[in-house]
Amino acid sequence: MTWDTIAKTDAERAYAVLGDPGAGRAGFDWDQAADMLDGLPGGGLNIAYEALDRHVAHGDGDRLALRWFGKDDELRDFTYADLTRATARFANVLMASGLAPGDRLYSLMGRKPELYIAALGTLKAGLVFSPLFSAFGPEPIRTRMEIGEANAVVTTESIYRRKIAKWRAEIPSLKVVFLVDVDEAPEGCVALGPALAAASEDFEVAQTQPEDMALIHFTSGTTGRPKGAVHVHKAVYAHVATGRFALNLRPGAIYWCTADPGWVTGTSYGIISPLVNGATLLVDEAEFDLDRWYGMLQREKVEIWYTAPTAIRMMMRAGAEAAAPYDFSNLQFLASVGEPLNPEGVVWGKEVFGHPFHDNWWQTETGGIMIANLAAEDIRPGSMGKPLPGIEAGVVDTESDPLRECAPGEIGELALRPGWPSMMRTYLHEQVRYDKTFRDGWYLSGDLAMKDEDGYFWFVGRADDLIKSSGHLIGPFEVESALIEHEAVAEAGVIGLPDETAGEVVKAYVSLNPGYEPSEELERDIRGHARKKLGPAVAPREVVFRKTLPKTRSGKIMRRLLKARELGLPEGDISTLETDES
Ligand code: ATP
Ligand code: MG
Repeated sequence: MTWDTIAKTDAERAYAVLGDPGAGRAGFDWDQAADMLDGLPGGGLNIAYEALDRHVAHGDGDRLALRWFGKDDELRDFTYADLTRATARFANVLMASGLAPGDRLYSLMGRKPELYIAALGTLKAGLVFSPLFSAFGPEPIRTRMEIGEANAVVTTESIYRRKIAKWRAEIPSLKVVFLVDVDEAPEGCVALGPALAAASEDFEVAQTQPEDMALIHFTSGTTGRPKGAVHVHKAVYAHVATGRFALNLRPGAIYWCTADPGWVTGTSYGIISPLVNGATLLVDEAEFDLDRWYGMLQREKVEIWYTAPTAIRMMMRAGAEAAAPYDFSNLQFLASVGEPLNPEGVVWGKEVFGHPFHDNWWQTETGGIMIANLAAEDIRPGSMGKPLPGIEAGVVDTESDPLRECAPGEIGELALRPGWPSMMRTYLHEQVRYDKTFRDGWYLSGDLAMKDEDGYFWFVGRADDLIKSSGHLIGPFEVESALIEHEAVAEAGVIGLPDETAGEVVKAYVSLNPGYEPSEELERDIRGHARKKLGPAVAPREVVFRKTLPKTRSGKIMRRLLKARELGLPEGDISTLETDES
């Protein structure tokens, strides 16, 4: 690895929750997470109670829970007491609409306050919450509602009219449609505003049990058809503990998670984890805009910031000068998830914001952060860090039977010992697929990784994306990271193409930074740079220029699509595809 370790200062170590991370890991078991929570007064466990009512019961109802910024700079503040009351009203509306505990409510709307109230109000009433990304087209919405047997949806009038009304009658389970932005609802729908206004703000939280279903999250669809992962109320053990360990969430901390609740990050860490930890959550309704984001960090004195590599690369593309006028001195901790974070991005964080980005790894299936760079620990840029307290992770050889743990430095599949509280309980209607993810006492993640001598985990690529060329195993991430170190390259996607002699050869797609134009000379130069960094066996044989790379709406590069297009194969499920200008 060519990047130097970033050593933590004493102040950074002191800031960390696990001041002595080694000790924290060994001494932790999940019962301690239970001690961070209350449980329901009458027995049972409910995520919404832990996120809201508990703080009111402890006398913290006046603390700011949610500060919301509208697209046109409208601002709305909600204390913990405000959200407790609003979600009680919502739960009452659900009951009055004929819904019952166990029913499934979907959300399909932008990041409006009602979305947050609906999420927690649904859980409070004992219903199951399933968030969908609002920009989905009618087909992806319908498929996901069929898979999850939706009973109700909270959405806007326009989304309903354009994307649901036509086929609504064909989904018999779908009983109730709540519209958030009308005073009078069209036939067959409920106007949510007036219903909330008329509802009581007293509601006895449903007596859900730890193993009751709470959330259905659909995966990002990066590798194929999205799967519906089921999570239970007990996941809140992981939400509270991992938020504290990996993000340093604490009462009153000012925290901004840029992920949309339509994806698991935006729910686990964009709603639940910060609130169960008593933090103040910032939400911006608008999409990425450089000055808006920098302005938000400065004005709101953001302390903890959780974002994604795709956004970090966009900021890097604009250059450090664009950040120079802003004051980021309140920032304490920066984290990233969703895709591999290139070492250059980690270091850039330190240069521009005064702190490195802390990469962490998890999946829809794991429900919470599993492997992370912690505030108290030195960072090896490009590494995902180490397993969190309570998590046992390994790298295993799946060719061997039984599974064998790989030696340090050896590439294998990233695996986890089952048993953490936010582990998915099934893939809806795909029990066989679910069962297949477990072998010899391990959960197999589908990602490839390696562990170094000191226990740091390094992401190599998706199992499907690994390239085998002339006897070498090549992970796309390593090649992509080398490419984006070239001054002209903003983003890179790397795939293997079939080749008679080598088995496969490496091909790269890159988008360029402002001020650079595609040319043969630049192509040669980028290849030369990669050869120098990686050696001729690993460097791409060919580099092609693209304005943008195909990505999921959650910002992940879809390498399988680059490959399908290259080989003229079927594109498969592209319901989550965002940019498509290639
Ligand atoms: P699908 O399972 O439908 O193909 P997906 O795997 O992209 O989609 P998610 O559950 O949203 O759906 O994403 C989890 C995956 O994202 C991980 O398995 C991993 O491949 C990738 N990922 C997440 N965080 C990191 C990280 N820090 N470094 C590298 N990869 C990451
Ligand atoms: Mg996946």
